[in-house]
Amino acid sequence: ATAPLLSINNIEVIYDHVILVLKGVSLQVPQGKIVALLGANGAGKSTTLKAISNLLRAERGDVTKGAIEFRGERVDRLTPNDLVKKGVIQVMEGRHCFAHLSIEENLLTGAYTRHLSRSELKSNLDMVYTYFPRLKERRASQAGYTSGGEQQMTAIGRALMAKPSMILLDEPSMGLAPQIVEEIFEIVKDLNSKENVSFLLAEQNTMVALRYADFGYILENGRVVMEGDASDLATNEDVKEFYLGVS
Ligand code: ATP
Repeated sequence: ATAPLLSINNIEVIYDHVILVLKGVSLQVPQGKIVALLGANGAGKSTTLKAISNLLRAERGDVTKGAIEFRGERVDRLTPNDLVKKGVIQVMEGRHCFAHLSIEENLLTGAYTRHLSRSELKSNLDMVYTYFPRLKERRASQAGYTSGGEQQMTAIGRALMAKPSMILLDEPSMGLAPQIVEEIFEIVKDLNSKENVSFLLAEQNTMVALRYADFGYILENGRVVMEGDASDLATNEDVKEFYLGVS
């Protein structure tokens, strides 16, 4: 087997020097796969993604144990920007678009760490519009006045402008109607198969995530309590009972 693209080994995360939130989490994302990180509200999904992207510092969080490797190289000490240059980018929960900028301006902000030429910018933008035709139609609209689904698409599109090999996607389904959620997951699947983008996807919507993911990890109270192929997890009785609301 080849080494995983991303590998997290036994990480511990503490907020404010005292609040132990991740209690030894290990997981892997193989090259070219979609991996779902599942679990209830507060289980530690966002914290795991932020530990990888190094966005924890801003929230007074710290990785106090363990190792994070991307392409076999330790990345725990990199800044978020240096990680983007290595090809890893996070799309934050809650989307965080610049409300007063147009959709296209929002997309263009995603490329700034990469120092692209005009023609590269243009071709990345065309690539984003190929996957998100809806953003192309709405490109001149002020982001703050677009729908929740369009803002989520803009957030993913902005990340794509940096040409990542891996996207850390936090709760893409949050607050969106089921039909839009499907639309977004279809695009994620497409990006995965056609642009070879690997995904680590945090989701509370277990059912949908397992339909699109290859592999899943279930977090509970800062620990991985179950892991397996997405299709196996989706049919596992315990998973169904506890996380799908089916008994
Ligand atoms: P959600 O779906 O709500 O984002 P989650 O599984 O992503 O849930 P986290 O956001 O990672 O969970 O939160 C895990 C735990 O860490 C929670 O108990 C939360 O209250 C706590 N926590 C998160 N951020 C901080 C912070 N900045 N300071 C202190 N505690 C925090």
